[in-house]
Amino acid sequence: MDHFTYRDGVLHAEDVPLPQIVAAVGSPVYVYSRATLTRHARVFLEGLGGVPQKHVAFAVKSNPNLAVLRLLAREGFGADCVSGGEVARALAAGMAPEGIVFSGVGKTAAELRQGIAAGIGQFNLESEEEGVELAQIAAAMGTTARAALRVNPDVDAGTHGKISTGKAENKFGVPYDRAAGIYGRLAALPGLELRGLAVHIGSQLASLDPLEAAFTKMGVLMQDIRAQGDSVSHMDLGGGIGVPYRAGEEFPSPAAYGAMVARVTGNWGATLMFEPGRVITGNSGVLVTRVIRVKPGVVAPFVVVDAAMNDLARPALYDAWHDFVAVEPSGAQMVANIVGPICESSDTFAMGRTIDAVGPGDLAVFRTAGAYGATMANTYNSRALVPEVMVDGDRWAVVAERIEPAAILAAERVPEWLD
Ligand SMILES: *Cc1c(COP(=O)(O)O)cnc(C)c1O
Repeated sequence: MDHFTYRDGVLHAEDVPLPQIVAAVGSPVYVYSRATLTRHARVFLEGLGGVPQKHVAFAVKSNPNLAVLRLLAREGFGADCVSGGEVARALAAGMAPEGIVFSGVGKTAAELRQGIAAGIGQFNLESEEEGVELAQIAAAMGTTARAALRVNPDVDAGTHGKISTGKAENKFGVPYDRAAGIYGRLAALPGLELRGLAVHIGSQLASLDPLEAAFTKMGVLMQDIRAQGDSVSHMDLGGGIGVPYRAGEEFPSPAAYGAMVARVTGNWGATLMFEPGRVITGNSGVLVTRVIRVKPGVVAPFVVVDAAMNDLARPALYDAWHDFVAVEPSGAQMVANIVGPICESSDTFAMGRTIDAVGPGDLAVFRTAGAYGATMANTYNSRALVPEVMVDGDRWAVVAERIEPAAILAAERVPEWLD
């Protein structure tokens, strides 16, 4: 459920007509709905009502906008960060350092030091080597770092290969069969307080079954580790719940997810941690774009829009589908290819799709663009970095300005020895 609805034939974000935002900010532009974000955050927490001890850390990479992080901090969320830059954002948004989880397969020594100095709550270790390094750095700083060991459970998440992370051949975590041994060795190191296990098998999961399989395996491993005499007080179950990108698609609800978690983990005696991203932010945003022109094609016309793969990379990266609807639909439909202006054939949002009929100058939106949208934007083809707006009832604000190509150009230098 979201708050992007038609009123008098015009698509609104909450109470604001989208043309009003484009008139002021231009296009393309991401528009987020505060009410939708808040609702998703609360529905997720309610779904976990059967879990007594928990901490929810929002996966910052899905939407790192400062205003989004501030809103979620107010809802009681911590942050799951995968770089020093994300840790800095979470802190800037007012998130408590203890509520921050630092994940990521390539944390540098500088990032580990930065995280320790900031007092972040938990480092999710991706290898024994990283644990040894973290322990050394923390000991040298005269402190102890709290950590969990990320395990690769070798479970097929059944999602797109590029966002699957829990198969044995993926780069994430330590192999399941070696995890207990690594845990025992790391737990003995001074400078490290190893307190648990972490798992995250992938993103945009359409079924709870692979998650249940992974959590069940993690429960067995947890008991094995306790049996060898090491303490496990925290179990981080990651994120990954998918969202519908096409009207009519059904996905597991947060309530069904929470019920499954409560059933599988009921006797664990551990604090559970969660790292949802897409399920919180996905449906909370749209990318508004303007049709530049409609160009005849051999099979179907090309609707050339002013948004491109640099603004919304998911279709080019993962063949992802985003529903495309006119802001002021006439009722007529057309079959078209939707493409951006970038000089790559991968700059294609849809081929041969039945859409609202649109013509030059018309506004349209890509729906469900709140997760892995603006966060992946870049300036390829020397295009601007796309701006972001948040709506709250009948008011709205720019929460990330458009960064013009001139600003990027101004950061470049020609060495004098070229002249
Ligand atoms: C990306 C990521 C998440 C969030 O995944 P979603 O599919 O957006 O819920 C959670 N944990 C880790 C470690 C991640 O890399």
